[in-house]
Parts: sequence; C-alpha cells; structure tokens
Amino acid sequence: MAERIDLSGWGRYPTVESRVERPEKRTALRDVVNQDGNPVLARGAGRSYGDASLLDSGGTTLLTDRLNRMLSFDSDTGVLRAEAGVRLREILEVFVPRGWFLPVTPGTKEVTLGGAVAFDIHGKNHHRDGGISNFVREIELLTAGGETVTCSPAQNEKLFWATVSGAGLTGIITEVALELRPIETAYVAERTLKAQDLDDAFALFEEHEPNYLYSVAWIDCLASGDSLGRSHLMFGRHATPDELPTKRQQDPLGYEPDHLASLPFDLPEGVLSEHTVKAFNKLYYARQRKRDKREVVGIDPFFYPLDAIDDWNRMYGESGFVQFQCVLPMEESYDGLKEILAEVQDSGLASFLAVLKRMGPPDGGLLTFPTEGYTLALDIPRRDGLEDLLRDLHETVARRGGRVYLAKDAYLRPDTFREMYPALEEWLEIKRRVDPENRFTSTQARRLGIEP
Ligand SMILES: Cc1cc2nc3c(=O)[nH]c(=O)nc-3n(C[C@H](O)[C@H](O)[C@H](O)COP(=O)(O)OP(=O)(O)OC[C@H]3O[C@@H](n4cnc5c(N)ncnc54)[C@H](O)[C@@H]3O)c2cc1C
Repeated sequence: MAERIDLSGWGRYPTVESRVERPEKRTALRDVVNQDGNPVLARGAGRSYGDASLLDSGGTTLLTDRLNRMLSFDSDTGVLRAEAGVRLREILEVFVPRGWFLPVTPGTKEVTLGGAVAFDIHGKNHHRDGGISNFVREIELLTAGGETVTCSPAQNEKLFWATVSGAGLTGIITEVALELRPIETAYVAERTLKAQDLDDAFALFEEHEPNYLYSVAWIDCLASGDSLGRSHLMFGRHATPDELPTKRQQDPLGYEPDHLASLPFDLPEGVLSEHTVKAFNKLYYARQRKRDKREVVGIDPFFYPLDAIDDWNRMYGESGFVQFQCVLPMEESYDGLKEILAEVQDSGLASFLAVLKRMGPPDGGLLTFPTEGYTLALDIPRRDGLEDLLRDLHETVARRGGRVYLAKDAYLRPDTFREMYPALEEWLEIKRRVDPENRFTSTQARRLGIEP
C-alpha cells in the first residue's frame, strides 16, 4: 500500500513529500518496478545526508527496511548472504559474538547493506583495505526490465561496478553476499595521539598508519594560526584475547552495544553559535592531557561514538545541516586542506570537530568517492552564507583535482560534479543499456543532471 510522507536525509535538508511503499517480499518489489513506468528509487536507512535517498515528484520511493532477512552464512569463507535492508547493527549483533566483524564500516552502524553498497562506503581502514566493494562477492540487482541479475567482479562485471557507487540509479539491490572479517575479541587496541597542527597530524599519520588497520583524526577546524589543524589521531587494531583486562578474558567476544541517550527535541537555532562550538572544540582537544595514550576499548566507542545519542542530527535545529566531505589527491592535500580550513573559518559558519582521514587508492566503482589522499568531513549548520561557502569549497576541491562525496551532498552543481567524476560518461553508457528510460532516479540525480 502506497502512502505519502515527508522524507529527508540525515542532514534534514531537503525535505520532500514522497510516495512510499514498504514491501515485505521481493515479488512485491518487482510489482512496483513493473507497475506503471513511473520513476522508482530504493531507500535504505536514510543515513545519507542530502538528497541521494529522495525522489521528489512523480515516482515511488521503496523503503527496504522490511527486506531484512539474513539468508545464509558460510563459516569457512566468512561470506554472509543477506537481503539489502539488513542494517549493519543487526549483522554486528549476530556475528560479533561468533567472532566476525564487518570488513568495512562507516561511522554509524545504522546503515543498510543496500545503502552501503550503493555508495561503496569507506571506513577507517580505507588506506589498507579500500571500500566495502572489495568484500562484496555478489549482488542481486532488480533492473528496470523487472529481471533479477546476478552481478559480481566476475559476472556482469560492468553492471557490478556501475551499481557499486551508483547511488541506486542502476536498479534495486535485493541481496548482498559480503565477506566478513574474523576477529578474536569484541575490542580494539587503541592508541590516541595529539597533533598540535596540520604538519604534526600528517607526520603522525605517515609514521603510525603502517602499524594499524584503522586510523582517523578528529580535527578542530576552528583552531587557527599556529594551531591550524590541531587534532586527535586515533589508531586501532582488533585486540587479541591476551590484551584484554583479566575480567574480559572470560568472554572476549562479549558484545554489549552502546545505547545511551536520545535527543528528544530539536535544539533551538542559535544554540550552536560560533562561540559554543569553539568552546566545545577547545574542551575536546584539552580532554586528553597526554600526547600519547593507549587503551583497549569496545567496538562501539571506537567505531560508532555518534550512535550513542539517537537522533543527534536534531542538534542542528529544524533547518538542518550539511556535511561537506571532500577528498584531495595526495600532492594537493596539505595546501588544499589549509585553504579549505581557512575558507570555513572566514565564513564564520561554525562547525564541530571535523574528521580527517588518509585514503588509499580508488576502488573499482565507477562513481566511487575515495582517491589516494586525505579526506576531510565537516558538519555545517544551514544558515545564511552556506550556499556561497559551499560553492567556494566545491570550486577549491575541483581546482585541486579532488571530489566531494555524493552520500553527503545536497548542493553540488552539475558542471562541478562532472569535473569531479570523470568516469561519469562510462557509467552513463551502462545506465543507457540497463535503464534507457531512466526509471531509477533521485532528487540528487535530477539536481546533478544525471540521466541517460
Ligand atoms: C553518522 C554518520 C557517519 C557516516 N560515516 C560514513 C563513513 O565513515 N564512510 C562512508 O562511506 N559513509 C559514511 N556515512 C554515510 C553512509 O554510510 C551512506 O550515506 C550510506 O549510503 C547510508 O546507507 P543507508 O542505508 O542509510 O542508505 P540511504 O541513505 O537510504 O540511501 C543512500 C543511497 O543508497 C541507495 N540505496 C539504498 N538502498 C538501496 C538498495 N537496496 N538498492 C539500490 N540502492 C539503494 C539510495 O537510493 C541512495 O542513493 C555516514 C553517515 C552518518 C549518518
């Protein structure tokens, strides 16, 4: 049964009235695709920030949350086969106690397998392992013709690489076979280092990254002058049982998901003034006194600190916020990040701590985001001046040969998008073949002029 509801992404902008269906069976999914020739888009958990999971007019948004069955698991190969609506949280709850972890995980476990594949998500191990596509053994894709096509790096490989990172525009992913990672404990051996500026942060990444599977930095993007780029770098690897405190050694795979609090209402606009954000960032940086700290922490605090507060996106008030995430090629990263941080500071639009991460070589997806270099992600509330700031930031990124992440985007313009994603033409050739009438589209695709 179709209904009409208002939907938005995690940044709560834009909001669009949507005609939605929530099928429970894959046959019902096929019926909607075959129905009336109108546009269709799959939506997972709505954790992309902007308009990638939205379809504004004249079509149906298919909510996949009831297509969430785990189908099989092969303990020899570690391959889990599941429907695309399964959330990463559900996989963790079942598999961590059995000694398996996600091969790649984003900063929230509330995303679906379908959404993860559709954006070829990256995690703190991108410098080592690349994106999730490197662990996807196979997908089942429902295409515009109503057929289900099996795609993998060895079978229908062009369609596979167009779908991985294809933002739902090649069809509906119904099933994913994902190779999980064996672990011995539900804990991470973490080392946190303080960097006093950007030079220091880069040097620490270079020095310590080879020793750790995971790395990320929280950077205070309001610190300027000599402190520009000051940050906390976090490195981690899965802990072995003998590294755990004695009490934990009894049950090394015991996994107790964090769930602390929720934000019951929207904060009034203005609570997040430049002053409060600056004060928060300063406190955060000062929180750790020692320059170098080692501890063993649980999976949730290491990978998903933000999930501890439900609906934290309401902190930005009703107008919402955007996350600007870019990646710059290695040779442009240092100067480019300095330029971007200065642009954000000049705009006076406050941003909480931003995330800085080193990425490895690009993955196989044609519209995949990562490229070898540094990525910076920062949240900016929607206030006057935001559009101008983003236009400037996008131009800086494009000029330096980088790109912005479409999973976070709500403002990029078609010409800048084309400049940033040179494989678009190759991708469009595949789109023309599998979806010549452009049945699969989104508000984002329309804004960016993506059509066959
Ligand atoms: C707090 C937070 C931290 C994050 N950290 C990271 C990170 O570290 N790394 C990273 O890469 N991303 C990160 N993200 C972004 C997030 O991983 C992606 O946006 C992901 O796509 C969201 O999945 P979803 O299930 O919510 O999909 P949605 O947001 O619902 O949809 C995203 C896209 O996937 C498509 N899609 C969804 N399901 C299907 C399907 N079954 N078939 C075909 N297409 C489908 C949609 O059409 C849409 O284009 C983060 C997001 C949040 C909120």
